[in-house]
Amino acid sequence: MLVVMKNDATEAQVQAVIREIESMGLRGVPMPGAQRTAVCILGNKGPVDDSRLLVMDGVKDTIRVTKPYKLVSRETQPQPTVVTIGDINIGGGKLVMMAGPCAVESEEQALTIAHIVKERGAQVFRGGAFKPRTSPYSFQGLGEEGLKILDKVRQETGLLIVTEATDHTNIEVVEQYADIIQIGARNMQNYSLLRRAGQTSKPVLLKRGFAATIEELLMSAEYIISEGNNQVILCERGIRTFTDNTRNTLDLSAIPSIKEASHLPIIVDPSHAAGRRDFVIPLSRGAIAVGADGLLVEVHHDPPHALSDGMQSLYPEQFAELMEEIKGLVP
Ligand code: PEP
Ligand code: MN
Repeated sequence: MLVVMKNDATEAQVQAVIREIESMGLRGVPMPGAQRTAVCILGNKGPVDDSRLLVMDGVKDTIRVTKPYKLVSRETQPQPTVVTIGDINIGGGKLVMMAGPCAVESEEQALTIAHIVKERGAQVFRGGAFKPRTSPYSFQGLGEEGLKILDKVRQETGLLIVTEATDHTNIEVVEQYADIIQIGARNMQNYSLLRRAGQTSKPVLLKRGFAATIEELLMSAEYIISEGNNQVILCERGIRTFTDNTRNTLDLSAIPSIKEASHLPIIVDPSHAAGRRDFVIPLSRGAIAVGADGLLVEVHHDPPHALSDGMQSLYPEQFAELMEEIKGLVP
């Protein structure tokens, strides 16, 4: 349930409502909005008796939230969330471009690619230091050494850094270096990692699991926000279907579905969806057409020799072509 406060309700009145909710054995989370504050009630198993709340000073109304997710819901917060990092806004109407290699392989490799994507207009550099790989024998990433290289990339280029935390132990070190902490598809329902991500001060990029419904994705985002971190960016990266022409199937309908259900920004990763570089530009066009707030694409200066995901990594010229197509849309 949502307790909607009057436009002129005071902070003391909001706090009194939260205390009243707590006296019922529940949690009250204030959701400040442009016009008015609402207090979201969490933890109830059945309907809440709102009679005590409706008579309190500053309270305008109560609204039942029909969805199982509360804090991520549009019902709770009608206006879109804009995640602001420095002068970059994610979800603010402009498209955000995140680009870079699948994995950080060396300082030279990361800096070479970072300069390529920076010069062509990317705002965020991607690159995994901790890599979740299907095979234990594949390259697992450089770990903390990779994070130090990413730090150097930020210093040299001014690009923001998005990089993945793969468990609740390495998130400690990832949060020290990253501007955005990525939680990958395989970890979308790693609840201890989600809770830990909810306790950081850094924005979180949460990727949809390849067998997850939209509701499950939103429930995972709810884990993060319910711990106090409301800076969550969602990412559609393809789901597993019966087709075998692409690595995954890019679910473009997820973007308007999520925009309808939630106020959180959503970006699209066409690289992991397609698994092949020649489909990345057409899928990017589709993603933009359906309203994505940004793109996350893999780019490598030498894809045939990439240590991971070379097949889906754009050549620098292809990234330039993509950026040329969308230049009016990127800040
Ligand atoms: C990645 O972006 O590096 C990655 C591993 O992607 P996903 O979690 O979507 O497979
Ligand atoms: Mn990859």
